[in-house]
Amino acid sequence: MEKEYENRNICAKCGGYCCKKCGCDYLISDFDSLKLEYLDKILATGRVSIVATLSFKNLPNGKLAVTPILSLRSRNIERSVIDLLSLKKSCAMLTSNGCTYSLNERPSGGVHLIPNEKDFHHCRSDIDKIEELYKWLPYQKVLAKLVKKYTGMSVMAKLKEDVINLFCAIIIKGYQDIAYEELVDINDMLPLLEQAFPEELHTAFIICRPKRKK
Ligand code: SF4
Ligand code: SF4
Repeated sequence: MEKEYENRNICAKCGGYCCKKCGCDYLISDFDSLKLEYLDKILATGRVSIVATLSFKNLPNGKLAVTPILSLRSRNIERSVIDLLSLKKSCAMLTSNGCTYSLNERPSGGVHLIPNEKDFHHCRSDIDKIEELYKWLPYQKVLAKLVKKYTGMSVMAKLKEDVINLFCAIIIKGYQDIAYEELVDINDMLPLLEQAFPEELHTAFIICRPKRKK
């Protein structure tokens, strides 16, 4: 039986559960070109962000190394063009009538999520997301140049800034409009972030911990 990549009835009943957790991922095959000028025009639409997936590795000296793998994702509401790490929010392309995009225009990460009528918690992708993410590896320098263009910062400097903001969001419990599943994901990653970014955790406590009343 042929796979049904779009079923607006099922998704309407569900109300866009997946899109409320986060915008969907672009694959490199979504773009006619992966040159800097072309991707810059894509970012300028205001509908796309550069994001980072963090890869952690234990070092012999006991430290935890972090490698951000940059890729493109449909932009989340209230998030910026460079959104390396943050609490994920609803996709900005989600409307009360569902996705703004036709199936042909939609990021492939969303296209390949097959609606499951019986249980929308179990809609599954028919692509290997990690394999697709690794296809972005040859384009890291191009994306890093765009991070620099928009923020004036290196990828690692911007990531550290985002980590501080994420720690702050957790300290002040800034969870409005964040899906429960996203909080579970962040909770799972938190011990790794705390180990990899101790200075940023310290900074976040200084900046964001509520002051005690005297
Ligand atoms: S793909 Fe699944 S989770 Fe996403 S809107 Fe459709 S039914 Fe809901
Ligand atoms: S682009 Fe469309 S399918 Fe993808 S997350 Fe946004 S609203 Fe959902």
